[in-house]
Amino acid sequence: MKLDHIGIAVRSLDQALKFYRDTLGMNVKGFEMLPAEKVRVAILPLGDTRLELLEATAEDSPIAQFLAKRGEGIHHIAIEVEHLDRHLQQLEANGVRVLPGKGQRGAGGHRYAFLHPSSCGGVLVELIEATKVKEAKEA
Ligand code: ZN
Repeated sequence: MKLDHIGIAVRSLDQALKFYRDTLGMNVKGFEMLPAEKVRVAILPLGDTRLELLEATAEDSPIAQFLAKRGEGIHHIAIEVEHLDRHLQQLEANGVRVLPGKGQRGAGGHRYAFLHPSSCGGVLVELIEATKVKEAKEA
């Protein structure tokens, strides 16, 4: 397992990039739209991992709801696992709350699932399936 990324909810990507890119000096690899989540993402590589700055594109986006409730800050951490379904099965068998939509594919084609913060010490945890393993199997 490894840390895939940290998601940070921000009110404005432009404002947040003034700090992370212009002041702190991080590089921006690119931007992605996640229409299903109504989120625009800025991707900032950071060693073996990356920061994802998350900006809502609609009022009913989960990020807009998070900002309204908690303000800007760390929204989730994402952990890469080799076999998502196996992990989910084991977690659910142990009473961990898995959020609806588990196993769907994100922007990069990764399969992912979110675990409810009440099961994870107050942190929203995203599990992402390692694509290399998956692609090698499917090929
Ligand atoms: Zn994420």
